[in-house]
Amino acid sequence: MSVRPLDLDPANCLIGGTWQPPVQRETIALTNPSSGETLCRIARGGADDIALAVESAERALNGDWGRATAAERGRVLARIGQLVLENTEHLAALEALDVGKPLKQARADVLSLARYMEFYAGAADKLHGATIPYLDGYTVYTLREPHGVTGHIVPWNYPMQIIGRSVGAALATGNAAVLKPAEEACLTALAFAELARRAGLPDGALNVVPGLGAEAGAALTSHPGVRHLSFTGSVGVGRLVQASAAQNVVPVTLELGGKSPQVVFDDADIEAALPFLVNAGIQNAGQTCSASSRILVHHARYGEVVEKMAARYSQLVAGPAMDDLDVGPLVSARQKAIVEGFIEKGADLERAATGRIIEDAPAGGAYVAPVLFAGVAPEHTLARDEVFGPVQVVIPFEDEDEAVSIANGTDYGLVASVWTRDGARQMRMAKKLRAGQVFLNNYGAGGGVELPFGGTGLSGHGREKGFEALYGFSVLKTVAAMHG
Ligand code: NAD
Repeated sequence: MSVRPLDLDPANCLIGGTWQPPVQRETIALTNPSSGETLCRIARGGADDIALAVESAERALNGDWGRATAAERGRVLARIGQLVLENTEHLAALEALDVGKPLKQARADVLSLARYMEFYAGAADKLHGATIPYLDGYTVYTLREPHGVTGHIVPWNYPMQIIGRSVGAALATGNAAVLKPAEEACLTALAFAELARRAGLPDGALNVVPGLGAEAGAALTSHPGVRHLSFTGSVGVGRLVQASAAQNVVPVTLELGGKSPQVVFDDADIEAALPFLVNAGIQNAGQTCSASSRILVHHARYGEVVEKMAARYSQLVAGPAMDDLDVGPLVSARQKAIVEGFIEKGADLERAATGRIIEDAPAGGAYVAPVLFAGVAPEHTLARDEVFGPVQVVIPFEDEDEAVSIANGTDYGLVASVWTRDGARQMRMAKKLRAGQVFLNNYGAGGGVELPFGGTGLSGHGREKGFEALYGFSVLKTVAAMHG
């Protein structure tokens, strides 16, 4: 089976509006995680291709794209959003085959990508500077300008959403982008770039160079022509990207992992909480930076919550992405081995429930049955470290202080949620929790397109999504005129 995004040859890079093979003419096999079979071969771009992509982005900035008004940029983004919607089923199928996510989750990602285009289309001409009262005889104002060429390094777990939020905001603010998708999943990145081209985005405003992290990725982060870096992925690579950005003294946004808690108090509406407690842990087979992998429950409701979550877990079924079950395969055999390693470390724990893998699942697929552990001590590796798989732990607590101490007790700080009917407690908890997003009586993994998102601690820094992202993707210039 060979898969072609929008009938393109997937072994090409998009540089300066032209699909072309990488300079070294090498390719990488892309695997279907549902079966272990090769889907197609993609380009193994390298430093030469990154250099060409940066040059073409610079040309776009000196040409039509650099001269486009904010309203014109918005109009192109709106057209891209429309084309994304018109190609929903194709994009969803590509993502399901490539990432292994069940079709309905892939469709939701397509809608998110379209929403990012719509949101940033509307926002492009709303970003403006300010006038500043100053000395007599002066007029002072600020301008918001693009950085120039922006580098975007995207992981395999949510390619469409992450491209939407970072490339969308970068283009809205007038930057020209070079995108390096993940080597495990890059088909929707290619399709998105083609749709942007068809929507009339000027040549070079968006370039795509697939390839390995240590090759194309490292070349992008170290290229002196790149003036802003946006990275989503692991903590280890995030450190490398930040070190590389430091060499060229460019700003960097890091969206790394998490160990996000949901805190359930004794007065919570458990029935309302239940779908969120489970879904936030197993969505995309748990391979979500903002997955809720820790459920903290007040001791008075602890037994009830474990029992109800366990009942749901025992009904969960994992299988091929195209079967559209609760859980798909993990992205790769490597990721499966990492997750199984974590599950083995829980051998001493109480296993409250385990889901199942569908009987006729292909032998080569990277399937892991979802596991719920209960009574887990906050110090245990499964309660502290990011698993990135369909595994959740339930941890009991005695009172509000202890809940805060456990919730804030990891090195991460991405998302948190609180389930309580007590309004004063909601406000106190929202202030005390160490997280970039706090949800009260809900859990929106990553939040909507409109909501600023990002972490503290090892979860990273900088904010993407929402209007806030436009500040990060632009540079403030102050102009002071003395006119007497
Ligand atoms: P990764 O950090 O290795 O890869 C993410 C992206 O960075 C990919 O495009 C990769 O090619 C690129 N990259 C890798 N090495 C690079 C380098 N030296 N320079 C520049 N770019 C480089 O992540 P992974 O291996 O795909 O996943 C491993 C772990 O990362 C997961 O288990 C999870 O903990 C975490 N992760 C987090 C997120 C998130 O959304 N925060 C997403 C994916 C993975």
